[in-house]
Amino acid sequence: MKTILITGGAGFIGSHVVREFVLKYPEIKIINLDALTYAGNLENLKDIENHSNYHFIKADIVNEKQILEIFEEHLPDGVIHLAAESHVDRSITNPLEFVMTNVIGTVNLLNAANKIWKNNFDGKRFHHVSTDEVFGTLGEEGFFTEETSYDPHSPYSASKASSDHFVRAYADTYGLPMVITNCSNNYGPNHFPEKLIPLCIHNIINNKPLPIYGDGKFTRDWLFVIDHAKAIDLVFHEGKNGDCYNVGGFNEWQNIDLVKELCTQMDEKLGKEVGTSEQLITFVKDRPGHDLRYAIDANKINKELGWKPTVTFEQGLSKTIDWFLENKEWLDNVTSGNYQKYYETQY
Ligand code: NAD
Repeated sequence: MKTILITGGAGFIGSHVVREFVLKYPEIKIINLDALTYAGNLENLKDIENHSNYHFIKADIVNEKQILEIFEEHLPDGVIHLAAESHVDRSITNPLEFVMTNVIGTVNLLNAANKIWKNNFDGKRFHHVSTDEVFGTLGEEGFFTEETSYDPHSPYSASKASSDHFVRAYADTYGLPMVITNCSNNYGPNHFPEKLIPLCIHNIINNKPLPIYGDGKFTRDWLFVIDHAKAIDLVFHEGKNGDCYNVGGFNEWQNIDLVKELCTQMDEKLGKEVGTSEQLITFVKDRPGHDLRYAIDANKINKELGWKPTVTFEQGLSKTIDWFLENKEWLDNVTSGNYQKYYETQY
């Protein structure tokens, strides 16, 4: 039996990647390695936790010794690396935590893979999951391609850029077989409610203000998380060794327009008069180093591997809202305790 180790599988995107692999590849042993930080939640995987090819290991990628022992014991053929500190605002208040997990943690995984695969790279692959934020910001025109120079502006994006460089350096220096995907903003079920879309859904349900940075003109490209999981599957299995692939939804929205669209859908689903939720919109002080616009050119993955998003934004948003409305307990659980304390200091 082949073994694939997925890091960060209890988080938002990782849980969808783990589910995709567990269900699609019953003959492959899937190990979900996750430290279960505030963002990790095994509830995200309740439906597949009893599958015989699914295994969970609680471990911290910053712990070099523990990671090496896990690699030596389980001898994974493939690694899909999603574990990260992922929230830009948190990176502004605690950059070092981002360096530890995103940079040191990645290097620990690379070292462990290098050590157990040394001189036998046949059928081996390290897939590093990264973000479009490493490219910095765009003006009103243009797109990020795989050739765009790195220009990160937040401690989060700087730590992800650094981890991308380490992955490439290990390929160049040691011949480590790798692929990297740089994806735009994801949304969908299991999304932690500190991020814009689930935060607004949660606040509309609870009749709380909808905080929008600056003038709301910041523009992001949005992709339904299951389409990202499918892209990762495709690149992991069929991507060219050593290559990077941009993944995006061809779906740009200014924050203010996106929140208004969300308000309209929520009003309809909650049986409120359209326009009710929009009244909750509150503009808040902009975050430092905020990038104006991200937009991904996803033509390479489309042309080379045939990937394209399977749901429109309208469908994806509707599915996402329905999921949050049907899983209020999940939302209540993650918005209590420590998260609540953090949240109260932010807004
Ligand atoms: P998330 O914050 O929801 O999940 C991160 C997971 O990593 C959690 O389960 C957490 O417990 C785990 N983790 C954190 N530190 C760890 C450590 N030291 N050891 C082991 N596990 C640890 O993040 P996400 O939004 O699902 O993002 C997953 C990956 O995808 C990240 O690498 C992120 O940079 C990248 N990405 C995210 C987006 C997005 O829109 N969310 C877009 C592009 C790329």
